[in-house]
Amino acid sequence: MVSYRELLVTLLMKPLSKNLIILVLSLLVIGAVFSATSLNKKQTPETIGVTALVEKINNDEITRVEVQEDTLSAFTADNVEYSVKKEPTVSLSELLSDYGVPAEKIISLNVEVKEPGLGVTLARSFLPTLLFVIGLSIVLWLFIRQMQGASSRAMTFGQSNAREVNNKKNRITFAQVAGNPEAKEELSEIVEFLKTPKKFVDLGAKIPKGVLLMGPPGTGKTLIARAVAGEANVPFFHISGSEFVEMFVGVGASRVRDLFQKAKKAAPCIIFIDEIDAVGRQRGTGMGGGHDEREQTLNQILVEMDGFDPNLGVIVIAATNRPDVLDPALLRPGRFDRRVILDRPDLKARQEILVTHTLNKPLAKEVDLKRVAERTVGLSGADLMNIVNEAAIFAARRDQKEIMQKDLLDSIEKVLIGPERKSHVLGEEERVMTAYHEAGHAVVGHLLPHCDEVHKISIISRGRAAGYTMSIPGEDRKMHSRQEFLDDMAMMLGGYVAEREIFGDMTTGASNDLQKATAVARDLVTQYGMSDQLGPRTYGQREDMPFLGRGGHEARDYSEKVAEQIDSEMAKLLNGALETATRIVKENRAKMDQVVASLLKNETIEKEEFITLVGPATKAPKITPRPAAV
Ligand code: ADP
Ligand code: MG
Ligand code: ZN
Repeated sequence: MVSYRELLVTLLMKPLSKNLIILVLSLLVIGAVFSATSLNKKQTPETIGVTALVEKINNDEITRVEVQEDTLSAFTADNVEYSVKKEPTVSLSELLSDYGVPAEKIISLNVEVKEPGLGVTLARSFLPTLLFVIGLSIVLWLFIRQMQGASSRAMTFGQSNAREVNNKKNRITFAQVAGNPEAKEELSEIVEFLKTPKKFVDLGAKIPKGVLLMGPPGTGKTLIARAVAGEANVPFFHISGSEFVEMFVGVGASRVRDLFQKAKKAAPCIIFIDEIDAVGRQRGTGMGGGHDEREQTLNQILVEMDGFDPNLGVIVIAATNRPDVLDPALLRPGRFDRRVILDRPDLKARQEILVTHTLNKPLAKEVDLKRVAERTVGLSGADLMNIVNEAAIFAARRDQKEIMQKDLLDSIEKVLIGPERKSHVLGEEERVMTAYHEAGHAVVGHLLPHCDEVHKISIISRGRAAGYTMSIPGEDRKMHSRQEFLDDMAMMLGGYVAEREIFGDMTTGASNDLQKATAVARDLVTQYGMSDQLGPRTYGQREDMPFLGRGGHEARDYSEKVAEQIDSEMAKLLNGALETATRIVKENRAKMDQVVASLLKNETIEKEEFITLVGPATKAPKITPRPAAV
């Protein structure tokens, strides 16, 4: 499909520039002819006024007059020429008689009326047209240039702008991708296909056409796709889903066609479609507006994937962090039927990622990357890269030659909680209140068996928080028990309880804690079936966004009566947590006072000091099966 714009542009562009040159040339020629003719005139005759002419006629000096338009050329008997200008509308005889020249003298004059010169005639009839055409051409030319500039691809319209990355220097291999052993194993099969397709074809095996990489943002989907190409040493065509859809309708589909054509020529190779959810959303749900262009693009991808011979050696790898919104047609066998999941890195993988990203940076000997990895549970590879970068910036700003452990730990807090706000100085009262609030969180969390380990307490404000308690899960866990949730809720309320118990007053500082605790209570009741009264069902249907973890809007699927029960169950859970926290705060007032004193002095307390102040943490009892009922 050729767009009419494309046609217009190609039609106009080339001949136009040629025409323009011809026009300018002819203009120059005409100009030259003009000046040549005027130069060729023997000598310029003396110009005289009408009165002088009349006088000369009256004196019989003039024998012959030539009239050319508004110019009179009067000649004497000895051929001396005078030039006289007259009004173009008045004829010579009228003019002369008006000046009182006798009629017989006028008649005796030899008057010749001449046609205007050839050049003048030509100029007269063509010049306006010529000027018009030239003007129009210039305007058109400018217009087209503008159009080209605006969509600088007007000429290369339907071509995919996939970038082919195949450079030996920047070759990425699986070694550069930390963690994800299953993903690597699955993908090394693809590498085998690309390297030795014959082995598989001979056995009648069909090489897979599509692989879908799924995982949260920043977990290395793009990286691992490039590593596949690097391992197999084949060309890699990289295009992002959003690049298909641009300002002109129909571009997406033609880009897809072009991309596959290029790839087929370069086979064996990899086509990598990043962020495929931009075009691959479920069709016809009306979500995000029924986008026709997107559907066409998606259809074209499906058509192309069905169209090529599986053993050609073109493998399409797509990446998304929203597999839930993808059109099922994409996931059908023969399309993206292989799915590879990339997870957030675990402790070991985080340490590996930190090592890779600090390789080319000067690290102080004292740096303990394991400690950094321990403090970054739940962060993605991209976050870790960011932390290392922030640490390097800290080191530079502190005029160091090497990155120290402190730079790394500071940058974790900066990335997790927000930048330090040195200017935000708390008043003395607020400082004490904040210290007790944080001590409340820390002590409650420390003494409850199922809470995460407290790593740091601080009353330096960061981001929106006046102070913070950093607690980090000891191991990477995928599941949480009911008891953990209950303890977490108590820890969240620890700050609120401390303010209430110690000052008999409360601040707005606890608002965020209350929101979080309420959300946990709601989830316990409505999502996890952890309330005895409401039983094992879920309430409310959430539009799930698994990798983003953000609840979309909720559709209610229960009665008003159940809503009341949910409220009362949540209140029960929250009150239970409140009681637990209150009990611990009351029983450990002395320990809290110590923590607060240290906080007021040093502003932050690290894990080790905290333990010396309050004693060892309460260990969670081992979970054992109950004995069978007799
Ligand atoms: P995604 O495409 O999943 O959003 P990227 O592949 O763009 O994530 O990752 C961003 C950067 O984070 C990568 O360039 C890489 O430097 C780093 N990174 C992410 N995951 C890993 C990993 N598993 N191993 C090493 N580096 C990683
Ligand atoms: Mg990516
Ligand atoms: Zn708090």
